[in-house]
Amino acid sequence: MPTATGHKTIYEEALEAGLTRRDFLKLASAITLALGLDLKEMPKVVRAMETKERVPVIWLEFQSCSGCGESFIRSMQPRMEKVLFDLISLEYTELIMAGAGSAAEEHRKKIMAEYPGKYVLVVEGSVPAPEYLFIGGHSAYDILRETAEKAMAVVSFGSCSSWGGIPAAKPNPTGAKAAADLVKGKPVIRIPGCPPIAEVMTNTIAHIVIFGQIPELDELGRPKEFFRHRLHDKCQRRAYFDAGLFAESFDDEGARQGYCLYKLGCRGPTTYNACAELRWNGGLSWPVQSGHPCIGCSEPNFWDQGPFYERLAMIPGTQTTVNPEKVGAILTGVVVAGIAAHAAATVVLRGRIAKHEKAETAAKEE
Ligand code: SF4
Ligand code: SF4
Repeated sequence: MPTATGHKTIYEEALEAGLTRRDFLKLASAITLALGLDLKEMPKVVRAMETKERVPVIWLEFQSCSGCGESFIRSMQPRMEKVLFDLISLEYTELIMAGAGSAAEEHRKKIMAEYPGKYVLVVEGSVPAPEYLFIGGHSAYDILRETAEKAMAVVSFGSCSSWGGIPAAKPNPTGAKAAADLVKGKPVIRIPGCPPIAEVMTNTIAHIVIFGQIPELDELGRPKEFFRHRLHDKCQRRAYFDAGLFAESFDDEGARQGYCLYKLGCRGPTTYNACAELRWNGGLSWPVQSGHPCIGCSEPNFWDQGPFYERLAMIPGTQTTVNPEKVGAILTGVVVAGIAAHAAATVVLRGRIAKHEKAETAAKEE
């Protein structure tokens, strides 16, 4: 049955695209899981898809390398084509649309007129001062303002759109600004990352379509579900950090043993993102697992927080850079105060840290 506005429902569109009822239910279960719901909640998702229409999406791209869009089209869960064709109607996107020139611009305006307050605007890239970037004779700033005005919500996809990103790095020659900071009077969801994790975007879109509202956000406007943990808290190298065992170079024995990468510049202790939980490439791995320190790409101003391979991250709660040789000792001290049974292990641990410090001092003296 068509929706109140006379459009086909998501279910009807899916059948028309050749999906069977069985395919449709499989898709609904994938979306239920991607939304973090129990499968018992699947009837709600099915009901929403049987009664709601696809959400039109306009995807604007400004000062960007297109990496965010590339990341999105490699979403695995739910698969991007399912999101595109079954949940949303991607009406305008410079990266993959076939149309171009005035026809494409007219289509963007047509969607804005036909779906006021009902389409989602995704913005990739930062926005330069008005004189630097024109599309179809209009400045990036004017296009953003005009398209955001009638949107239901705006998604700032990627660190450039969320915080200004690399185009805004010092000395910021084009006066680049975060799109999220320029949009007024609309809900803005920031999904930072360089690039951002595709599954966070598909989940956010699925949430908007299924529940008709934006997901819960943290104080910086990021979906809470994906940005509530520091990478450091979910990292598989964390036990080595706590034990004071660090790789000193990319090819030493510590690196081979999978030791903590903090001394090689890892920003995991100050970076909020879901890389350690969702991982990349369909859950295969993530940079720290693969041996590269996190550079904090989802944090504001990460591009000006270099050099990337020097130990710089601060552990929250301290105002200075932490001495990693002391970390194990500090953490151990806390544990010992409460759990006397760990005393023996602590002696071993302190011995290991002392040995490590001695070796480092000797190396410096040489
Ligand atoms: S500093 Fe980096 S490598 Fe070490 S535990 Fe934290 S996130 Fe993992
Ligand atoms: S591990 Fe760090 S730098 Fe790498 S993608 Fe995740 S947040 Fe960005």
